[in-house]
Amino acid sequence: MPYLVKPEHLAAAVAGPIPANRELPRAAIIGAGSSGIAAAKALYMAGIPFDCFEKGSAIGGNWLLDNPNGQSACYETLEINTSGPRMAYSDFPMPADYPPYPRHELVHAYFEKYVDHFGFRDAITFNTTVQDVSRNPQGGWLVRTSGPDGEHAATYDAVLVANGHHWDPKWPEPAYPGTFDGEQIHAHNYRSGDQLEGREVVVVGAGNSAMDIAVEGSFRAKSVALSIRRGQWVLRKSLLGKPSDQVALPGWMPWWVTGVRLRIGAITSGRLRKHGLPVPSHKPGQSHPVQSDAIRARIAAGRVSVRPGIERFEGREVVFKDGTRAAADLLVWATGYRVTFPFLDPSLVSAADNDLPLWKRTVHPDLPGLFFIGLAQPVGAVMPVAEAQSAWVAEMLAGTYAPPPADGIRRQMLRDHERNKKQFYASPRHTMEVDFDHYLWDLDRERRRGRQRAGVSTRAVPRAADGRIRA
Ligand SMILES: Cc1cc2nc3c(=O)[nH]c(=O)nc-3n(C[C@H](O)[C@H](O)[C@H](O)COP(=O)(O)OP(=O)(O)OC[C@H]3O[C@@H](n4cnc5c(N)ncnc54)[C@H](O)[C@@H]3O)c2cc1C
Repeated sequence: MPYLVKPEHLAAAVAGPIPANRELPRAAIIGAGSSGIAAAKALYMAGIPFDCFEKGSAIGGNWLLDNPNGQSACYETLEINTSGPRMAYSDFPMPADYPPYPRHELVHAYFEKYVDHFGFRDAITFNTTVQDVSRNPQGGWLVRTSGPDGEHAATYDAVLVANGHHWDPKWPEPAYPGTFDGEQIHAHNYRSGDQLEGREVVVVGAGNSAMDIAVEGSFRAKSVALSIRRGQWVLRKSLLGKPSDQVALPGWMPWWVTGVRLRIGAITSGRLRKHGLPVPSHKPGQSHPVQSDAIRARIAAGRVSVRPGIERFEGREVVFKDGTRAAADLLVWATGYRVTFPFLDPSLVSAADNDLPLWKRTVHPDLPGLFFIGLAQPVGAVMPVAEAQSAWVAEMLAGTYAPPPADGIRRQMLRDHERNKKQFYASPRHTMEVDFDHYLWDLDRERRRGRQRAGVSTRAVPRAADGRIRA
């Protein structure tokens, strides 16, 4: 069944903002990446007064190559691994002439158009870093910023954290025994195949970046070894002639039914063992999807050799767990990211082992007014998730949604946690994993219930014909 954007997810026509209502709570948004702009748009359309602070000089975060914010992991050949229709915001499709998996420039241009289309660019304060967020003893949140015109502090009723979770590289801990005499970079610092030209490269990891870098190295480097500690199902991007993620089942179905797409994808993508790739001990759909159309061909061409985990280093050699060795002068650690919030006191909020329990991955259950947008790793794209979270927060702030009692929230958190534990294998890689279709369906249901509790229309998006949320 094709993935369809549900009509109730579609926002109504755009009619510009309603005048800022001073009686509504005031919010700060941290970041103007794809999550921050989704948040800004939702608050703007709801007429909620807000400031959006962006430390760089541009919107788009990770999707701007060499973003002046110094935080983007984008490389020259980066293409999305979630298809355009899956990644697009529900009320703003990607241009019809985009390929199914556009490159980063097109993705960034799309975000630029989104901001201009809804017209909230002026609400973003660029080159301004949020340095500190703390509880104001008089109520609300004290937000301290630094920018070109110095330091400022202001109190907000709500803070929407959208600082991204792919910017703080995770290096192996503890370090492997021995000494490596070559160069080491994290995938976060990988920009182009030029960095691999003529070199003896070992890429460590089994995620999407590891596959991309190994494939690129297979054309540019002298040799490429791909070290994989735990096997992953590596899927092709197309299934039955269409982008594979556009074949999806309704979110209300149990995960072991909806996971059938990934199981079919795994079967039709080609056998792993035949290509020297380790066979995972989990089923397809029980981990974050890894996609590569080219890795099997490059292994078959003898240009990438697959190895197990690293045992130790010996100068310019890497010794692997199976006793084999690879000469190396460049190690690329594609070992993921740490989830960190430099502006929050760790005694208040920290994500040890990348785990930060949140209600529907959005609401801090113990800190009223603190929300997280896009802090999820969906089996699907982040943007529609961030969009739905933002619309939900806008409803909370506008008073058109009423939450259940605290014990109901705890029960939901526990239920969601148990579901995720059953679906995804235990790993820091999956602490924030959400099943995209189920998550959007479930959040939509909770939003409808909350509107009922608040005594307002139970239609999915309670907007007037001019696009304004009805308070
Ligand atoms: C290589 C790679 C490929 C990916 N491919 C996909 C994909 O195909 N599909 C998908 O859905 N996701 C993908 N992702 C996940 C990616 O995280 C999301 O696509 C998206 O970038 C998340 O947007 P964000 O706004 O949450 O974070 P970011 O894009 O990281 O943006 C965060 C913004 O916050 C700003 N900021 C941070 N701290 C502060 C501060 N203190 N004060 C002010 N501003 C601040 C930053 O400058 C930045 O602009 C990929 C990630 C990587 C690394």
